[in-house]
Amino acid sequence: MYEWVEGHADAYKGRKLTLKERLNVRCDALAKEALMDALYSRSFISSDFPFETVRVKLGPRKVTKSLRPSILHHSSRRIAKQVFGFGPRGSKIINEEQFELIYWDIFPRVLKKFPSSFRDWLSKTVTGCCGINHFLSYWKPGVRDVCPSCKYPGETIMHITRCPEAGRTTIFYEMVTDLEQWMADNYTPSTITEMVSTYLRNRGTESMSSRLTPHSHFFALASAFDFLGWRCLLEGRIPTLLVQEMHNHLANTPSRIGALDWAAGFVERLLRITHRQWQYRNSVVHYKVDGLTQDEHEAVISRFEELLQIDPSQLLSKHRHLFESLDFEDLGNASAVTKQYWIYSVESALAAAAHHRHSRRRSHDALTDTCEVQSLRDSPAPILHSAPAPHLPCELGIRYKKRRMK
Ligand SMILES: [Zn+2]
Repeated sequence: MYEWVEGHADAYKGRKLTLKERLNVRCDALAKEALMDALYSRSFISSDFPFETVRVKLGPRKVTKSLRPSILHHSSRRIAKQVFGFGPRGSKIINEEQFELIYWDIFPRVLKKFPSSFRDWLSKTVTGCCGINHFLSYWKPGVRDVCPSCKYPGETIMHITRCPEAGRTTIFYEMVTDLEQWMADNYTPSTITEMVSTYLRNRGTESMSSRLTPHSHFFALASAFDFLGWRCLLEGRIPTLLVQEMHNHLANTPSRIGALDWAAGFVERLLRITHRQWQYRNSVVHYKVDGLTQDEHEAVISRFEELLQIDPSQLLSKHRHLFESLDFEDLGNASAVTKQYWIYSVESALAAAAHHRHSRRRSHDALTDTCEVQSLRDSPAPILHSAPAPHLPCELGIRYKKRRMK
């Protein structure tokens, strides 16, 4: 007589296990131990079972679960590899070794916590196709490739999380403090907490492994973080080794969450750090005073200063009051809208003066032509040659039209 006992009951933290469940968990642990021993000593039988009529392999691995999700997962992984770096149209974000180190399976769990707009932002940020000035300057006239916060030339995707502007730095440190607190509250080893927070506070200028000795238990983990780099960490691409380390560590603590929940919480906070920087950056770019953004204000001031340099004698006399009867100190302190009105007035006056000069030149040319015609009329008639009359294309045109009408 057999009885079903639920497997992996120890995965539910805080659940009190029955005797049968505890025995089942113990059997699982012993089986895993025996399997690992066999792998180390290479004393195992072939994994191909006898009498298998169909055997499906995806890459080097045999499919042991449902076919459809296995094929989908394999195909998605192949496409992700191409997108991230090493396909014909790869974006060179990471290399193949880095790709294999990353714990990708955490993303479905993390992304469930965010709305679709956040997921859209993440896709754009991860692929580097977001509206940073480095890209906008290519196709949007008037956009310069500088950081809107610190005015650093070259606002690339790496600069978003490394901007040294005071406001953004304050927010960055606040978010790192939140992450530190969360890690401490969730039974994270103090070495990992310190390793990650110091790396973030230094903005990635100092590697994690440089603060550990090669004999340290966490040296391999720190090296994995270093190998993936700053951008991977801030975009939630954590090493698989971290999840394994936390799995082993949390099993010996009273924590009610497992390694996957811990990793999901960790990645979620990392993504929030990057997203907060992006939001702050956009608040500077899109925040409007007098209906104008910061860039538009700067453009108005630049044009205002440019027009102050022109000579009023270039304008028509009726428009010179724009320069002569105006207090420029008051105008300089006035709102951007008032400056815009003055700029538009001066630009109109310049256009009117240009039009006036053009008209005068044309009337002068016409007068000169008339005088020349008159002098030709007064001169003796030229001697006509006995050359044949020129062919008149208009005659042909008229005849052609008549034929068409018939
Ligand atoms: Zn900046």
